[in-house]
Amino acid sequence: MATATGSLRKPARKTTSKRPAKKKPKSFKWQKLAGKNDEIEQVIRTLGQKKFVGRAQRYDEEASFPFENYDDMRRAGILAMTVPKSLGGLGVQYADYALLAAEMGRWCGATALTFNMHACTPLWTGHIADDLDMPAADRKQHKKNRELHFSRIVEKGAIFAQPFSEGSSAAAGKAPFGTSAAKVDGGWVLNGKKIFASLSGAATYYGVLCTEDKPDASVRDTLFMAVPADSEGLSIVGPWDPVGMRATVSRTLVMEDVFIPDEQMLLPRGVYYQAARRWPHMFLTLCPTYMGLAQAAYDFTVAYLRGDIEGIPVKRRMYPTKQITVADMWIKLQQTWALFKQATGEARVDPSKDDRLRAYAAQYAVMENANEMCRLAIRTCGGQSMLKSLPLERLYRDSRLGSLMLPWTAELCLDRLGRETLYEPGETDDA
Ligand SMILES: Cc1cc2nc3c(=O)[nH]c(=O)nc-3n(C[C@H](O)[C@H](O)[C@H](O)COP(=O)(O)OP(=O)(O)OC[C@H]3O[C@@H](n4cnc5c(N)ncnc54)[C@H](O)[C@@H]3O)c2cc1C
Repeated sequence: MATATGSLRKPARKTTSKRPAKKKPKSFKWQKLAGKNDEIEQVIRTLGQKKFVGRAQRYDEEASFPFENYDDMRRAGILAMTVPKSLGGLGVQYADYALLAAEMGRWCGATALTFNMHACTPLWTGHIADDLDMPAADRKQHKKNRELHFSRIVEKGAIFAQPFSEGSSAAAGKAPFGTSAAKVDGGWVLNGKKIFASLSGAATYYGVLCTEDKPDASVRDTLFMAVPADSEGLSIVGPWDPVGMRATVSRTLVMEDVFIPDEQMLLPRGVYYQAARRWPHMFLTLCPTYMGLAQAAYDFTVAYLRGDIEGIPVKRRMYPTKQITVADMWIKLQQTWALFKQATGEARVDPSKDDRLRAYAAQYAVMENANEMCRLAIRTCGGQSMLKSLPLERLYRDSRLGSLMLPWTAELCLDRLGRETLYEPGETDDA
């Protein structure tokens, strides 16, 4: 298996805080899909069946990024899926995004997981930010900034990554990020390191969470910044040879005195902190990928037992034990879909306590059940289903990783559920 090692230094680039002159936005054929989510789903399904499935094994073996899938998605307008319609995108909002992303995950887990990092930037800076409080001047500036970022996606097919993790408790939401942003004239200077930077080497912009460099900085001082991939001082280092989700190419990002202009701020000061508390479902968007993997494991099992898989035409569906396993899988799949759809449908600013708890439960259930579905699929399909030429063993490896994803790992969901079911905010047992 190929491993990518060494340090990739980006070429120097002249940065400027000048905004491009206003011009008429370009129009594209795919924009006719805006508002037609059924048709968008069909586009994703067709790409998945005709293109992504056939490429997945190679990307997985090579641990290489699915560039061809992204080129296809760019041509079809899918990269602009969550950009508001008024700014040239397809205008898909949170709950519909979750369903569409699950469809993508059914065909290629790594494509869907990396696409999530991309699609969340317009979601967070778009309709989620609109739900949050900010001073009028910040709101005005934010609207200007996001217009610029969205136009980069719509017109240039830019790809956004979300490298947050640092190997500390920051991505778990328990400490400030170690990556710092110091205010300077016209912009910011960033220093720090991000591990597991999915889309490393493929993204055009890295949406970095960092802490404003000031005395007594806390998690409230978290900033969300778009760092251009060709920034001077940005490098991608280290190997990438994991057990699953290999095509995410999640290497380490190092920032050494990286200057970015003010307009690269993705959210105004204090808004990420507010979003994390008031729009908690923003962290549930890693789920759709794994919901898609669970569906794929079920689909594969049915096809395999019916003798419909090319090259393995033997029917196995007549054995009662296999029928029982498929029945179990169907029940688990429907339970998982039900919770997933309910929780993603409840996403809103200031959700009720039950809605918040259900979001943790959905994250836990989807991540754990996706792997359980694959385990059951392997057990009942049997030995030949493990061949590398078939997708099941990859689904099994990819699905194992969902419950490790911060900030809502399976363990942290249990921690939160245990505490928040029994205690109201601020409640203690002190006399
Ligand atoms: C395929 C893949 C792709 C990824 N892509 C991205 C990406 O694009 N962007 C990104 O930001 N991250 C990404 N991640 C990283 C992921 O979200 C986690 O941050 C990462 O797996 C954490 O690794 P760790 O060993 O530091 O985890 P852990 O050690 O589990 O967690 C890190 C820290 O969190 C705290 N913590 C963890 N569990 C608990 C607990 N139960 N109670 C209290 N504190 C706890 C601790 O301080 C711990 O040291 C990706 C991961 C994978 C596997």
